[in-house]
Amino acid sequence: FSLATKGVQSLHPYQPGKPVDELERELGITNIVKLASNENPLGPSPKALKAIEDAFQGLCRYPDGGGFKLKSALAERYDVVAEQITLGNGSNDLLEIVARAFADSDSAILFSQYAFAVYPIVTQSIGATAIEVPAVDWSHDLIAMAEAITDNTKLVFIANPNNPTGTYVSNDELVRFLDAVPEHVIVVLDEAYCEYIDDDHQDFPNSGLLLPNYPNLIITRTFSKAWGLASLRVGYALSHPDIADLLNRVRQPFNVNSFALEAALAVLSDDEYLASSQRTNTEGMKQLIEGFDRLGLAYIPSVGNFVAVDTGRDGVAVFQALLERGVIVRPVSNYGMPQHLRISIGLQHENERFLTALAEVLGRNR
Ligand code: PMP
Repeated sequence: FSLATKGVQSLHPYQPGKPVDELERELGITNIVKLASNENPLGPSPKALKAIEDAFQGLCRYPDGGGFKLKSALAERYDVVAEQITLGNGSNDLLEIVARAFADSDSAILFSQYAFAVYPIVTQSIGATAIEVPAVDWSHDLIAMAEAITDNTKLVFIANPNNPTGTYVSNDELVRFLDAVPEHVIVVLDEAYCEYIDDDHQDFPNSGLLLPNYPNLIITRTFSKAWGLASLRVGYALSHPDIADLLNRVRQPFNVNSFALEAALAVLSDDEYLASSQRTNTEGMKQLIEGFDRLGLAYIPSVGNFVAVDTGRDGVAVFQALLERGVIVRPVSNYGMPQHLRISIGLQHENERFLTALAEVLGRNR
């Protein structure tokens, strides 16, 4: 449609999957396993459900546009002040708010090859120029990214861990990068999956500690993954208060609904749920990679709640064949990874269903 801006005309839409019930109807099966969207397989925290029930009476009221209670709880948990927090309708909302606040059609926005698909979308939607820096070993090459910064660069997105590769940058790499970045460039550290980092990865950045030293740093996180609230759409950004002030001016006044605010507040004190999410993930990841080893398939070592496996064949064809067996995974050909599939970690029996179906599709013994 020629009235749209050039950036919008060149947009490729984010590809959501079909609803599971619709697929079940189409395929004539009833027990589809969905390992496609990096969701929490445990189901919601009971505390979140209770909070939502309690919030029903407020249905006719606008939500608290300042997110007072949730921000206070986040401030306490992450040792920041409420003025450093911006709430978003999912962290995707925050990525877009940041882009709108700091970049325009004269700007360049930098991100890595294989990085999260929303970065090019928000870049193009504001007419900025996307600069994709080649990855090394499927991971961000922060040295090359620092070298790619020009006077026009306004924003850098770093997904840590990255989706769909599951790779991460270490604290040392990140600090070296931040030291090399000129002050006029905003760095977004997208930590959607940070809660899954375990004690074996001590070199993962403790990003909150970096905030006081780097006023151009924005950390974004979400309640969609380890906290199990993907449907409610709630995320947050931590930054210098001056940046948070700007982001809060740009965001829509009531961008996070009351159920999301209350449920997020409730899960933040549900350490048992978080621990259970982490445990399920660690065990499920082990189950999947042992399965891949047995099938002789290479995979990209991941610290997220998903893993990208090289099927050695056309990924979309394997995806289709798995779908016919009632298992939904995510092909990643749109990321330039034509043979890989991204598998979200599920419950034990779901992982098992997937591995069995995969062995069948590839004609291998388990
Ligand atoms: N960042 C990354 C790296 C992601 O993978 C996702 C979810 N797919 C998001 C951000 C956005 O998540 P949400 O909008 O649900 O917070």
